[in-house]
Amino acid sequence: MKKLNAIVIGSGVGGLATAIRLAKLGIQVTIFEANAFPGGKVNSKQFGAYRFDMGPSVFTEPHLIEELISLSGSKDATFQFHQLEESCRYFFSDGQELTVFPGVEKVADTFSKSLGENKSVVAEFLERQRKNYEAVYPVFIAVSLHRFKHWFNRHVPNALLRLTKYGLLSSMHKVNSKTFSNPKTAQIFDRLATYNGSSPYKTPGMLNIISHLELNVGPAMPKGGMVAISNTLYKLCLDLGVNFHFNEKVTAISHSNNKITGVQTSLGKYDSDIVVSNMDVHFTYEKLLSNFAAPSLNLKQEKSSSAIVFYWGIKKQFPKLGVHNIFFAENYKAEFKAIFETKEIYTDPTIYIHISSKVEQVDAPSTGENWFVMINAPINVGQDWDKEIQKLRSHILNKLSQALGEQIEPLIEVEEINEPRKIEAVYNGKQGSIYGNSSNSSFAAFYRHPNFSKKLKGLYFSGVTVHPGGGIPLALNSAKIVERCVIEDFR
Ligand SMILES: Cc1cc2nc3c(=O)[nH]c(=O)nc-3n(C[C@H](O)[C@H](O)[C@H](O)COP(=O)(O)OP(=O)(O)OC[C@H]3O[C@@H](n4cnc5c(N)ncnc54)[C@H](O)[C@@H]3O)c2cc1C
Repeated sequence: MKKLNAIVIGSGVGGLATAIRLAKLGIQVTIFEANAFPGGKVNSKQFGAYRFDMGPSVFTEPHLIEELISLSGSKDATFQFHQLEESCRYFFSDGQELTVFPGVEKVADTFSKSLGENKSVVAEFLERQRKNYEAVYPVFIAVSLHRFKHWFNRHVPNALLRLTKYGLLSSMHKVNSKTFSNPKTAQIFDRLATYNGSSPYKTPGMLNIISHLELNVGPAMPKGGMVAISNTLYKLCLDLGVNFHFNEKVTAISHSNNKITGVQTSLGKYDSDIVVSNMDVHFTYEKLLSNFAAPSLNLKQEKSSSAIVFYWGIKKQFPKLGVHNIFFAENYKAEFKAIFETKEIYTDPTIYIHISSKVEQVDAPSTGENWFVMINAPINVGQDWDKEIQKLRSHILNKLSQALGEQIEPLIEVEEINEPRKIEAVYNGKQGSIYGNSSNSSFAAFYRHPNFSKKLKGLYFSGVTVHPGGGIPLALNSAKIVERCVIEDFR
């Protein structure tokens, strides 16, 4: 390959992984990052004596980070993680509580004993999700859906067969409510649609493959917190000679004769053969390619959900809580209607609490815990967020105080809040959506933007707003696809 240079816009995990892969090809890579820190949404902050991961908290497929370490050839990069004993603790509004431990046998046993499910139905369902995951991975996740030679491989017949048989046309909720006898079991499986910002009542049943990662394998937790993912990838980039320009926002992508020529930033103009946008794809077209015809079909799809997060330093320990905890809404369907249709904060939303100090004790004082308290929220369409967030805060405090038998508000030592307007402003995500488009239709996967531009040679896309979709593992896969496309286009 001739000596090329590449510019990556944004240092989210997808951008960092792309930079590592391109640098390994011998390409001179420069990353422009609007913020002062690497990692995008995977960043960490200290509030008083409490450390918080500001964005993601659920982590699966750690082998994808190990793969990048090995690819980079680094001798001293380390990435360690705890394989969590528990998948999640569930609290239902009727008072029932349930801890789910990963592993087919354990899950089937728990759902049988606590929810009255037939053990073999649960085990067969999870086994089916493993097979579905293994079937679709090489066709829909690891490769571009938009280059025939990528996805047309020997795995296609099996993937298509399973896709049509197990849930392209039925919603996740339909599949789950038909499979399980107890609505609570269906609700636990339905919840996994939120892992890519979608509604279980609309997203196709095939998305049940997430339960393979969450329940068969189980979540991991990086040592040092989620931010260890960004720190590891950042170190690999530096070791490979990637240049970083922090606090330098890209304001336009330059092109001529249908070919990329470089970027314009807040501080200057830079030439390059390749530009990879790790920025929200919608804003890439809207803000950086404003004179260029945007692929409207890709961009006009419904956006994924956003989030409201309360970061609370709590001066007490709660043995009843684990690393991941869910306090379910009583009416789950109404909650998703509020998020995606009326775009309101639901009156009794499902509350997720993540406490990293349960495994990373240094994240909180020895007598306390760092609570990351999140609800799924609609995207920003100009709601009166300040008023709504105050209402929500009181509701959450009441609900948790009741469930845990203790007044929570007096225990809060430090507090920060994140919400759709901030997510939009800090990470440049369209309307505060976390994953770009939602997967709220049977063909959503086919409408996600490709990892390359069909019109501008040298322009590529990585991150959760493009194919293959939402979540850290998929962002890391998007980088792999960009690498392959670059090799094909420039060899
Ligand atoms: C509250 C919350 C909870 C989440 N929970 C999970 C979870 O549990 N598990 C999970 O896997 N995922 C979760 N996610 C989603 C997760 O953040 C993504 O999976 C992943 O971090 C996104 O990576 P990315 O590569 O798409 O880039 P992003 O993290 O979106 O980073 C994009 C980067 O581009 C930069 N940028 C944008 N525009 C410009 C510009 N013009 N010039 C220069 N730089 C620019 C931004 O500053 C940013 O650093 C969560 C997100 C949030 C907000």
